[in-house]
Amino acid sequence: MPTERISLSVPNVQGREIEYVTDALSTGWVSTAGSYVSSFEESVARFVGAPRAVACQSGTAGLHIALLLAGVQPDDAVLVPTLTFIAAVNPVKYVGAHPVLMDCDDSLCLDPVKLERYCKEECAFSEGVLRNRETGRAIKAIVVVHVFGNMADMVAINDVARRFNLRVIEDATEALGTKYTEGPYAGRFAGTLGDFGVFSFNGNKIITTGGGGMIIARRSEDSDRAAHLTTQAKSDSVRYEHDEVGYNYRLTNVQAAIGVAQMECLERFIDAKNDNYNRYQTLLRQVGLPALWPFRGGTRSNKWFYSLPLPEELDRDRLMGQLAEEGIQTRPIWGLIHEQAPYADDETYAIEQASRFRSSILNLPCSTSLTEEEIVRVVEVLKGLIG
Ligand SMILES: *Cc1c(COP(=O)(O)O)cnc(C)c1O
Repeated sequence: MPTERISLSVPNVQGREIEYVTDALSTGWVSTAGSYVSSFEESVARFVGAPRAVACQSGTAGLHIALLLAGVQPDDAVLVPTLTFIAAVNPVKYVGAHPVLMDCDDSLCLDPVKLERYCKEECAFSEGVLRNRETGRAIKAIVVVHVFGNMADMVAINDVARRFNLRVIEDATEALGTKYTEGPYAGRFAGTLGDFGVFSFNGNKIITTGGGGMIIARRSEDSDRAAHLTTQAKSDSVRYEHDEVGYNYRLTNVQAAIGVAQMECLERFIDAKNDNYNRYQTLLRQVGLPALWPFRGGTRSNKWFYSLPLPEELDRDRLMGQLAEEGIQTRPIWGLIHEQAPYADDETYAIEQASRFRSSILNLPCSTSLTEEEIVRVVEVLKGLIG
């Protein structure tokens, strides 16, 4: 019996996308002006409880703008995770700064204990500026990635940031909808806990506009400046006057129309991600396979990706090939950033855990449209191969 291929993560476009896109096209508002852009911004802001959200072309563009807003200058240093998709780190180089690549903890996100230790032991803090003792570089900001939708330890990270006067940029590109349910941040969403938060609407994210991003800033003047910088820093809309170097980073109205429709489905998508995660867990337990990687307690996670930790002796890449032959698409966790060619000479600090995760984690199909039969099949095939 021929079976359908099961993809890792595909867009779910079954809402009012076509209706809204048709409307955008038929009114002629196809580019960066138009009412869907502001509707989409308002819808995301309302959802995460932020006063304002500023749309942009991609998560990467949003992170670039956030670093500029954080005041990161050429030759400054920025603390970043090594276990991440590279788009969280590349913008540090766009602004001419130097990343310091750091380890993760068991949440797969930036380790706050090592973060603090680095600031205390490797740096000196005086007159409000943290400097690395050896390089003398000023450390201005931390980029925190909420890996696979899992909330990083924002309580501890914000505490370190406050003590050493560092701006916090949340790469919440994978974590739209993840929120704390307990503790000092109960009710607050990923992307609204730092000085800046960035979302992505790339095709593989929990909602998509084909491509796109959103910037959240704690201070309203930063939101204003984000809107300014993403539209060529135009200070007069008629007379072509510009007060600084800006960027063409605006989202188009057609993409925003897709976004408005996708936002109407977001809660349903999060429910589907959670239900499917629980189905996997039950089935994996029944056949005696390892459980999926857990999400932080005291949070409601969007459970964007499902990570299966494999025994270290198992050849993960071979397993990936065998699953592909069965029509099941999986992906390893990312290659570590400090091992990538453009970052080989950058500073690293105490990287241990990330290297272990790098070789043992396999991500399983996790689309919101995944069916129960497909989950059963993935687990059966896994059981046959490694059970
Ligand atoms: C997707 C992603 C980005 C970049 O978003 P784009 O919209 O593709 O530019 C950045 N960081 C992480 C962790 C991501 O997963």
